[in-house]
Amino acid sequence: MTRRLESSPRTIAELVVQLGRITHGHGYTEGLTPAQWSALRYLSRANRFSRTVSAFAEFHATTRGTASQTVKGLVARGYLNRTRAPRDGRSTRLEVTDNARAILARDPCEALVRAASALPSSARDRLATGLERLLGHLVQGCHKRQFGVCTSCAHLEVAGWRREGEPRFKCAFFGELLEETELAQICINFQPGKDSAMKRAFRGQA
Ligand code: SF4
Repeated sequence: MTRRLESSPRTIAELVVQLGRITHGHGYTEGLTPAQWSALRYLSRANRFSRTVSAFAEFHATTRGTASQTVKGLVARGYLNRTRAPRDGRSTRLEVTDNARAILARDPCEALVRAASALPSSARDRLATGLERLLGHLVQGCHKRQFGVCTSCAHLEVAGWRREGEPRFKCAFFGELLEETELAQICINFQPGKDSAMKRAFRGQA
């Protein structure tokens, strides 16, 4: 059987690079750089364990020094605040400000989000699964971390049940309970799990 030309591995790689290039080119708006947009985007979606300069450096595949400069510019412009992390008073956590949330409504990446919204949901699901696997292979090959969310993480555990029969979740890695809103936030300690506690709980097997 001959492989369709448009789905050859090289064509997929070129399409991904082109998408990145176009999105990067749109990133010089509102007086920010593409790296600063990336930092705001990441920090607005990262969980409390991952809102640090070093976590952003890993996410953005850059050095800690470069990430630090990016963050410094955003703090100076009032888009980020530095706070002390409650778990470890020596480290600093970054929080996006209301001004940052306002500017994120005009994120140049929204053009890509709109393009993705135009796809049928089944195509989006297949694309998301394929891109996730692609990213997994890539980060494994260069010993980088794969960021992800609690709902598909191997460290997610059921901590108990609420009165309404809804499960409560905790993170076995950090040993802390997780709020429902945190389950979909990006985490630096994500560990891909074949069958997460979330799926098991909703099948009544946890
Ligand atoms: S369950 Fe996984 S993704 Fe969620 S906080 Fe813990 S390590 Fe991070």
